[in-house]
Amino acid sequence: MPNDKIKHSRSKHISNYGGVGSIIETTDNSIIIETFDNWGYSDLNEKLAHYIIKDDRLLQRLKNRFPNLKHLVAIPTDRDSFLHQVRPKANYFPKWFYCTHCNRFASYFEWKNRWRSAGKNLDFFNPPKCANRDCKENHLEQIRFVLTCSNGHIHDLPWEYWNNRLPSDKSNVEETEDEEKNEKQSGPQLDYSKKCCDQQDLIYKISRENTELSGIWIECKNCKKKANLKGIFNFEKKCDGKKYWLGQLNGKFHEEECGISMSPSISVKVKTSNSVYYANTLSSLFIPEMQNPLSSEVRIDIDNMVESAQFT
Ligand SMILES: [Zn+2]
Ligand SMILES: [Zn+2]
Ligand SMILES: [Zn+2]
Repeated sequence: MPNDKIKHSRSKHISNYGGVGSIIETTDNSIIIETFDNWGYSDLNEKLAHYIIKDDRLLQRLKNRFPNLKHLVAIPTDRDSFLHQVRPKANYFPKWFYCTHCNRFASYFEWKNRWRSAGKNLDFFNPPKCANRDCKENHLEQIRFVLTCSNGHIHDLPWEYWNNRLPSDKSNVEETEDEEKNEKQSGPQLDYSKKCCDQQDLIYKISRENTELSGIWIECKNCKKKANLKGIFNFEKKCDGKKYWLGQLNGKFHEEECGISMSPSISVKVKTSNSVYYANTLSSLFIPEMQNPLSSEVRIDIDNMVESAQFT
């Protein structure tokens, strides 16, 4: 898993700002926080006692919504990670990166393949770097755009089809001022039936003169087909139901049928936008009298007994 170790100064962010599924900016790119199931709590057994937060009133309240919830646990600290191998897990998101030196533009997995193919050690790949000789292991730049779905899913844009437009696409056509005023602009229309060519080799070029979105070009070095990012915020597409925060299973990120009927169901956002993630927060006032006097250790013993069916 890329980026196993999140700097622990980030733990505060994880608990205060967002949580599982939120996108957090770190010094090396942004990451999406993975489900608690991947943090290592489940392998702790009796050591879990160290993490239990005893607030039975809050626990009972949360159990209404999450009937399988057993304990509230603390976010692991640096020391915990060292002692017990418990740590927040995350993966890089968005997954598309470009090299500011050679301009090449590819997905995280493709960059990793290139690193491997260049005979370089994968242990040194993160944060993602360009394997090109001339680029001297230049740290890659992460793309800023994501697609969010009102059902909670999140995606990269379909960059490998971005320079492949349908005849109906009008977004790269120069318009006169009048047209701009009168017509609602339609977003880029991509042709998903095939990629631009068989040997696709994309680059991400930022024009020095034009600082608008129309000054950023996705171009294939092989077939020269290109398109700029003009109209990107009007781009629409069917949701693929991706759930990157659940991590990977057999090398593939989780996905589900989205089933959203609303149209448009997904929209383009900048990854740092505060409309990408809403945290559900719940406050609790700790009342000692409402507390069950059981120690953390006894609580775990009871769990284990219940699980081993000694009470049935
Ligand atoms: Zn490069
Ligand atoms: Zn091409
Ligand atoms: Zn969706």
